[in-house]
Amino acid sequence: MGRTAAHGGGLRLVLLGAPGVGKGTQAAEIQRRTGVPHISTGAMLRAAVKEGTPPGQKARAIMERGALVPDALVGPIMAERLARPDAGGGFLLDGFPRTVGQADLLDRILAERGQGLDRVINVVVPEPEIIDRLTGRRLCAACGATFHVRSNRPRAEGVCDACGGALRRRDDDAEAAIAERLRIYQEQTAPLVARYQRAGLLLTVDGRGRPDEVFERIASSIPGLRG
Ligand code: AMP
Repeated sequence: MGRTAAHGGGLRLVLLGAPGVGKGTQAAEIQRRTGVPHISTGAMLRAAVKEGTPPGQKARAIMERGALVPDALVGPIMAERLARPDAGGGFLLDGFPRTVGQADLLDRILAERGQGLDRVINVVVPEPEIIDRLTGRRLCAACGATFHVRSNRPRAEGVCDACGGALRRRDDDAEAAIAERLRIYQEQTAPLVARYQRAGLLLTVDGRGRPDEVFERIASSIPGLRG
């Protein structure tokens, strides 16, 4: 079943779940503890938009309205990222795969390497709570730390506790874009839950509560995660 953690070669994990369930927060903690690289297609695409690269220029408007960037654009970015040496010893994918086509691509890339996934972590949070989390979310433009206007306020309004950078709302955390992202999640990404369940890889975790509580739920099922 490819539970390779015990056989050398680090963990190969996917974080599945709707926008706003806390995938990025959990991924950062897992990376901190295990050293496996946290690979977020959303973060890579936002960097490409900021830099104004050709893929970034194509992705900008699509991301702003909360739609998915085409597989033909995301696939090569992910294939290139997984080919880098640091991903050879394991990885943690956050926000990929998001479509059946992307899951097929990931299967192909791993099959060529003679590898498989160890676990797919499906974090679940009720939709009203997701909407509250995303509308109140603020990100540091400099270091990427996340805050929330109600539940995780920075010490000084609009200023990052970690680095002093300016906090801003992601463009796609506007209400219309959130609704679109949740609709697309149900339509395109949710079918992957059943696929990974059938493959015996799925771990479903309640994403409510504090980040450390959620992490404990994940870590109690995946040996080696506590680092
Ligand atoms: P995220 O940071 O994961 O919420 O992603 C932000 C946005 O980036 C999404 O709403 C999509 O527009 C785009 N995006 C990120 N990952 C993917 C992906 N795997 N496939 C298509 N679009 C993506």
